[in-house]
Amino acid sequence: MPYRRLLRLAALTILVGAPTSFWLACGGGEGNLTDPDLGTIEITAATSGPEPDADGYAITIDGAGGRSIGPNGTLRVEGLESGTHVVGLSGAAPNCSVADQGSAAIDVVRGSTVSVRFAVDCRATTGAVQITTSTGPNADADGYSLLFDGVERQPIGVGETVILSGLSPGGHTVGLSGLAANCRIEGDNPRAVTVVAGETTPVGISAACDPPPPLTGTLRVITATSGADPDPDGFRFRIDEAQEQPVGANATVSVTGLAAGPHTVRLLDLAANCTVTGDDLLSITVAAGATVDVSYAIACSAATGELRVTTRTTGSPRDADGYELGIDGGAAQPIGSNASLTLDGLSVGPHDVTLQGLAPECQVQGEASRTVAVAASATTTVTFEVICAAATGSLTGTITGLPDGADADVTVTGPNGYSQRLTETRTLDDLVPGEYTVAAAGVTAGGDPYAASPTTQSVTVTEGEVATATVTYARASTTSLNLRIDGLYLTQSVQTLTRGVALVEGRDGYLRVFTVANETNSTRPSVRVRLSRNGALLRTFTIAAEASTPTTVDEGLLSRSWNVDVPGALIQPGLEVVADVDPDDKVAETDETDNSYPASGEPLELEVRTASALRIMLVPVRQKANGFEGEVSAANSDRFLDVTRRLYPLPGYDAEVHDVYTTTTSNPLDADDSNGSWTEILNEILALQTAEAGGSGRHYYGVVRAPAGARLDGIGYLDLPAAMGYDDPSDGGRVLAHELGHNWGRLHSACGNPGDVDRDYPHANGLIGVYGFDVPGGRLKGPAHPDIMGYCRDSWISDFNYKAVLGYRARHYPEAAQLVAAEQRCILVWGRIVGGRAILEPAFEVVTRPSLPPRGGPYSVAGYADDGTRLFELSFEGVAVADGRRGGRHFAFAVPLDDAAASRLGTLRLAGPGVQAVAESPAASLRRTGAGTDSVSIRPAAGGAALQWDAAVHPMIMVRDAGTGQVLSFARGGRVEVRATGGDLELVASDGVRSWSTRRSVSGR
Ligand SMILES: [Zn+2]
Repeated sequence: MPYRRLLRLAALTILVGAPTSFWLACGGGEGNLTDPDLGTIEITAATSGPEPDADGYAITIDGAGGRSIGPNGTLRVEGLESGTHVVGLSGAAPNCSVADQGSAAIDVVRGSTVSVRFAVDCRATTGAVQITTSTGPNADADGYSLLFDGVERQPIGVGETVILSGLSPGGHTVGLSGLAANCRIEGDNPRAVTVVAGETTPVGISAACDPPPPLTGTLRVITATSGADPDPDGFRFRIDEAQEQPVGANATVSVTGLAAGPHTVRLLDLAANCTVTGDDLLSITVAAGATVDVSYAIACSAATGELRVTTRTTGSPRDADGYELGIDGGAAQPIGSNASLTLDGLSVGPHDVTLQGLAPECQVQGEASRTVAVAASATTTVTFEVICAAATGSLTGTITGLPDGADADVTVTGPNGYSQRLTETRTLDDLVPGEYTVAAAGVTAGGDPYAASPTTQSVTVTEGEVATATVTYARASTTSLNLRIDGLYLTQSVQTLTRGVALVEGRDGYLRVFTVANETNSTRPSVRVRLSRNGALLRTFTIAAEASTPTTVDEGLLSRSWNVDVPGALIQPGLEVVADVDPDDKVAETDETDNSYPASGEPLELEVRTASALRIMLVPVRQKANGFEGEVSAANSDRFLDVTRRLYPLPGYDAEVHDVYTTTTSNPLDADDSNGSWTEILNEILALQTAEAGGSGRHYYGVVRAPAGARLDGIGYLDLPAAMGYDDPSDGGRVLAHELGHNWGRLHSACGNPGDVDRDYPHANGLIGVYGFDVPGGRLKGPAHPDIMGYCRDSWISDFNYKAVLGYRARHYPEAAQLVAAEQRCILVWGRIVGGRAILEPAFEVVTRPSLPPRGGPYSVAGYADDGTRLFELSFEGVAVADGRRGGRHFAFAVPLDDAAASRLGTLRLAGPGVQAVAESPAASLRRTGAGTDSVSIRPAAGGAALQWDAAVHPMIMVRDAGTGQVLSFARGGRVEVRATGGDLELVASDGVRSWSTRRSVSGR
């Protein structure tokens, strides 16, 4: 069965005998019943029609079973209960129909057999064609070949009828081949015929034949076709000018009755994919009574078609480099933006065609990737519409310097071959973004030659922006003048032409550009300076000339250089500079290309270092001996630091003013420290700095009132940040700067006959030797100025000392916050070795940051318990004193000491080569707790408090402001008046080794 369909039958009531398509018969007594209570059904299939279902059907009883039965078979089903049963027949082929839908309800009676018959009618699925040939006189003796759909089916004689059956319904062709040469078919050959299922279509083909020539032969046309797609409808051939006749693709056709003699045979009607091997037109000679063969070998390649792809692009700018065409994912091939490309040899069927490689501003309308069906032997077309709409920019070419009416000669070229000539200032719009070159050529105007500048420049045009390019024309003259820049520098205090002095970040500077001319002139060109950092432009300065251009570099006059103030904010590491003289090309020169510095035009990096600010405590010193008080306060502290900030490599300073410190030296300051008071007070300043927690990392500078006519105006430590100097309003700042130099390790330069002259100082007579510059004052400082480290006034700083201070401070005062020890309980041990004598000043317990010798040396100071146990020992070399004449070594240490050790401390011993000093606390039983209420009397006094105590018991009392911790005095002699702002005082009384602290009100309570 072609297919089997099981019917689900609902219960049907069939009246026996009623349907005409089957009948029932009662055959009682027939059969061989095995059970008298059961019955039998006998089923018969009766198939009729031209195309019966050959494989039979399926029978079901009450929907079950599925037994087969032949197309005209009989099936007995026994053992059925009495009652109504439904018998079904199914599985008939589609062209067959079963009567009553293949179902019958049968009443089975016990002990009997009931018959049921199913009639199946199978109609035809194909048709047939009946071809009859006929002819008149002179009939073709050997008959014809019958072609159906171009394929040779069988021979057919003259006057014969052939039936071709089993043909699919629809349109076909029928033709005759092998006509004798003297015959021709009437009507089309082949001709169309329609096949109808179940019918036979008659086709009559008649031939007319002329009388045959007297002597004839036979020609056989033989075709042999190879290849994938042979011509479906066969070919045709023609002998001489006779009627064409069909021939199959692989056929042999005999043509009789051909006149003896020469003939031509041509093979015709080949499909496009088929070609004849060799010639399609052949010449043959037919001999009488003989047969000649003409063979054609035909090769048919796979059928192909052509695809013609067309691009049409509108808008602008068009994609200059065209597009790419991809076929079925293969290698792309280029196609223009308005072009056609024909692809041949494509297999028949669907192909994927993709247009790609479009510029971003161009878009395909519709799908860029399409599926196109290629037809055999035809040209299929596909068109891609592309619209381009790029964002564009503009370029304004500004042209100046030509007389009115004169044309410039400027050419703008750019992407995609863009080129536009400008004769005057103009804005070019709708430009494709990209790099454009503006080239300017010289012109003649009014008889004079004009040169353009720059002659070429690059401009970047960006989307939606207006780029600019300026071309300046200037009348060319026959000049012999040439300008160039010989050097430049940025100075903050002092600098050299070789830029040997590093710059300090954040400090204001002054830039000098040294432009020179090759000949005497009156030209006053401007100079453009561009400062940049890491390639980013920071600032452009255009500096006008103050005078005509010198012919040599002359640092000695500001008017001989092109100068500009540079704010400190611009001076940062990585700073770069490039300068150009006459940047606008206003001056005609013999060489316009050597106007930059550096000559390469590449920015020059300047050395910029990071430096820390100066931290300083100004301590007004009041002398008990004469009441003189150094005049320094918050109001005038900047004046003291003015020279310092102008000279030194400092980005700034942080100055504080201390409470008035009262010194109790027995003698007042003298002219030259003959009485040692300068040295003694300096040592107190050092002790004060060490005792105060805020002294770490901060300079302490005592400000004193010196006696009139004093030869000594300041004194300070070498390589340690403490010093003192006089308060002269006009000179105190110079002295402070000088002493800071000592603090930073600087020895003297020779001017003014000082001691301890630096042997490495490079310039004669202690002069600065190079050009300095006072940036805040805007004043040049010539090389004949004395260096700050000499004793001469009107001093400045040399490159030598500036660089040395920069290096020293980088090592000792790095910008990053220094790690400092925490405040803790310490013992302040201090004193000095002067003139062969060791002085151990009374020690105090303090809470401060530890301060210990930076290195060992020939001296030592040690603390011992009463039982001789050594509690600490420090080896040191002491700090040297610059200025003054007593020299010596000073020290002040804050030695961490815990409570247990401090409570045992009984003796301090200072020792060194040839010197020794010992301080002993009285035996424990005799110690008095000194600063207690009964041993120091305190009463208010003018501006502070007056203290009185027993100096034999407590040789020194450290007086501190209890609120700020500032030391107001290291007081000796049993009596002192201290300046105090009110509030409480902390009094620390020392017996030389041990000390006791108490807090007292200024009012004496
Ligand atoms: Zn000095």
